[in-house]
Amino acid sequence: GAPRRDFTRSDAREVLHEVYGYDVFRGEQQEIVDHIIAGGDAVVLMPTGAGKSVCYQVPALVREGTGLVVSPLIALMHDQVDALIANGVRAAYLNSMQTPAERAGIERAYLAGELDLLYVAPERLTLRQAQGPNGLVALLARGRLSVIAIDEAHCVSQWGHDFRPDYLALGDLASHFPGVPRIALTATATPATHREITERLRLPEARHFVASFDRPNIQYRIEPKVDPRRQLVAFIRSQPERSAGIVYALSRKSVEQTADFLSAQGIDALPYHAGLDGAVRSANQSRFLRDDGVVMVATIAFGMGIDKPDVRFVAHIDLPKSVEGYYQETGRAGRDGDPAIGWMAYGLGDVVQQRRLIEQSPGDRVYKQRLGQHLDAMLALCETVSCRRQNLLEYFGEASGPCGNCDTCLEAPDTWDGLIPAQKLLSTIVRLQRERGQAFGAGHLIDILRGSSTDRIRQQGHASLSTYGLGADLSEQDWRSVIRQLLARGILVAQGEYGTLALGEPAAAVLRGESPVPLRRDVLGRTGAAPRVRK
Ligand code: ADP
Ligand code: ZN
Repeated sequence: GAPRRDFTRSDAREVLHEVYGYDVFRGEQQEIVDHIIAGGDAVVLMPTGAGKSVCYQVPALVREGTGLVVSPLIALMHDQVDALIANGVRAAYLNSMQTPAERAGIERAYLAGELDLLYVAPERLTLRQAQGPNGLVALLARGRLSVIAIDEAHCVSQWGHDFRPDYLALGDLASHFPGVPRIALTATATPATHREITERLRLPEARHFVASFDRPNIQYRIEPKVDPRRQLVAFIRSQPERSAGIVYALSRKSVEQTADFLSAQGIDALPYHAGLDGAVRSANQSRFLRDDGVVMVATIAFGMGIDKPDVRFVAHIDLPKSVEGYYQETGRAGRDGDPAIGWMAYGLGDVVQQRRLIEQSPGDRVYKQRLGQHLDAMLALCETVSCRRQNLLEYFGEASGPCGNCDTCLEAPDTWDGLIPAQKLLSTIVRLQRERGQAFGAGHLIDILRGSSTDRIRQQGHASLSTYGLGADLSEQDWRSVIRQLLARGILVAQGEYGTLALGEPAAAVLRGESPVPLRRDVLGRTGAAPRVRK
């Protein structure tokens, strides 16, 4: 490989300048780098884009030996290593796609002390043969490691949104390589995940560096979903001309339909999902990265490691499964620090669909319970009547005040007393269940409450129910809002394939009138406000 520059221990700043072209460390980078260079362990929680790579790459270049980087994102390894090599760093990766000869070459370079950084996937270190006498662990032990970095460390959390079983065994690295400083890094950590990382990766002595997760230049907006594609178009049109953005949708089909719809409306939109031909995918990705003002409509497969600083908005037309996911995805907006928007349309159908996905997911009761908790936290964020950012940061264990740069701060939502409508709805469900052994989804229940005369109402004789027509004072849209919010709070639960509604545990107190039901009054299309930056 290329000759290595001779850096000495005091040269962290020089490395930063020479290799990366940066003048100064950002945030806590300097302290982290110094701590690792001095041989200490670290746990680093930093939001995406804050600059985690520098935290382990600089120590790897300053300390003697090779920095080992464990990363689950094989697709990204290649790009990262290429970028490092282009900057004169002797970097390589080992993965299962390489030929034995390629691997042998890299192993030789490592043993000869000719590598600054070596990237590996976790299973390379944790599979049984990796730990055997001819395995990678033994090989690494014969050479010299300068630092072990475990990226995406939240993957060790069994209850997190990104669990990878291989991560559980990475704690063994502590005993395989005593004396080599280890650094675990993640961009998504709740206090519970933070604890799990420290325990499972065996970092009891580590220093903890917890950066603020606030992204003050991102304005959060969540509006009720009525006609998502039209709402999306209205939102995009409310943004400065040719703003680059990402639109996240849950399914491949929805990605393609939405991209087509946007294109038909004259918006420069492209689809991206794992089912597309590889060539199409990479062509779309490079257009997004290269050209101004492209809107990428994508599944969550898109975005990991995409480093485009000037993404002006991230829009969700389907509900993310967790606050971690939402935060990570919206976090791809505004990395340049300029104003950006995280916009989402969210509706009753999302709640029903997500609950159904959880119910049908493989996994035991405890696992499903966890997924349910993730969803509940996400719903609480959607339905909050106070500051969205405050709610979001609190989820990550960070206290803050109202931000002045989210929809609820900018236009305080109205609340109204939903007790009576909630009781009408709940007692309709109870009657249908008790008197006729029937259960229905939102649409039919709303028809009963509003006194509609549909075929189904006539066939079922539901006009004779005592609550028939009792809710005609509310529009269909109002009722959907009520049901959505009751579902979000668990007062209602959606069951089975068709999302039929049943009573949740808190419903009894509502029926007795003992539990108030303050509801958020939905307002549509508040997307026109100009984004603001909070200083
Ligand atoms: P993370 O892994 O935390 O998402 P990266 O390590 O990919 O972040 O860095 C995000 C961006 O910030 C990259 O474009 C990187 O080059 C840049 N960056 C990192 N540290 C600095 C610094 N000290 N000065 C300027 N830019 C930096
Ligand atoms: Zn706010």
